[in-house]
Amino acid sequence: MIRPLRDGGPLLSDLTAFIAGLPKAELHVHHVGSASPRIVAQLAERHPGSRVPADPEALAEYFTFTDFAHFIEVYLSVVDLIRDAEDVRLLTYEIARDMARQQIRYAELTVTPYSSVKRGIPDAAFLEAIEDARTAAERELGVVLRWTFDIPGEAGLEAAEVTARMATELAPEGLVAFGLGGPEVGVERPQFKPYFDRALAAGLHSVPHAGETTGPGTVWDALTALRAERIGHGTSAVQDPALLRHLAERGIPLEVCPTSNVATRAVADLESHPLADMVKAGVLVTINSDDPPMFGTDLNGEYAIAARLLGLDAAGVAALARNAVDVSFLDAAGRARLNAEIDAHLADWQRHER
Ligand SMILES: [Zn+2]
Repeated sequence: MIRPLRDGGPLLSDLTAFIAGLPKAELHVHHVGSASPRIVAQLAERHPGSRVPADPEALAEYFTFTDFAHFIEVYLSVVDLIRDAEDVRLLTYEIARDMARQQIRYAELTVTPYSSVKRGIPDAAFLEAIEDARTAAERELGVVLRWTFDIPGEAGLEAAEVTARMATELAPEGLVAFGLGGPEVGVERPQFKPYFDRALAAGLHSVPHAGETTGPGTVWDALTALRAERIGHGTSAVQDPALLRHLAERGIPLEVCPTSNVATRAVADLESHPLADMVKAGVLVTINSDDPPMFGTDLNGEYAIAARLLGLDAAGVAALARNAVDVSFLDAAGRARLNAEIDAHLADWQRHER
């Protein structure tokens, strides 16, 4: 249960330290969108002559978030650097290294295999690369990765077919969920129903993006046509009280990414983010970073923002972290272990009472 503080909160700098050490799970974060300048520099080194600057200083500047158009430019230039299976392996493993530094212990990474297959990386080689990185990251960095394969909605049914086939026929061990990303405007959710049906029949979970840049009707579509078990963003759900009630009653969580929502102009600014209204309506929320380096943030930064918007103390932040663990697709033993780590971090913090 998340309880807002009654009169003001603790110093944010204290909470920042608490958050930095807090073991966390992240449920909504994209593969290519997690390529930090450090990782991009490594990729650029493998492919001299790309349009991404290779020297670290110029690269840091290139990465400084300016607006959404700039994000797309950076994103596409990183996509252009992922040309072979070794690039995929390097990217994936190095993302886990960045996660370990933030005490992220478990992540469901949204991967878009269609983009890589389309660029000529054979599907089997792609899957072997991410699986190799996954097992190495768990063994060497203590970060447990699982995959959500998402359909890039703008690429239509051809992309849906490739994604569903890779998810159900090639089915890598780390795959737990099936998603749908890309633009929402003009990309109706129900057209992807047959592909989600196949994925669900194969034992995968349904976690489409919905209601980020369109209204609550898209969230309803995701729930009814795609049988969504969690909603990516769902920002516009607050416009529909019946939808909020439905999400609260069914325990369907929203994967909230505050900075991303501002960057994509889904919400005007952080102060008008509907996170507090979601919580007030009894909807279970999780905090996520979406495309962190490209939006100039990381998961710790998003937790600090959530703490401010919800007026949380350390116990409230820990409750938020447990939310993500509870609604993750990690097995029961793994969830219990991670929640125990969160509780221990909180107890330790409270013993030293700052
Ligand atoms: Zn996303």
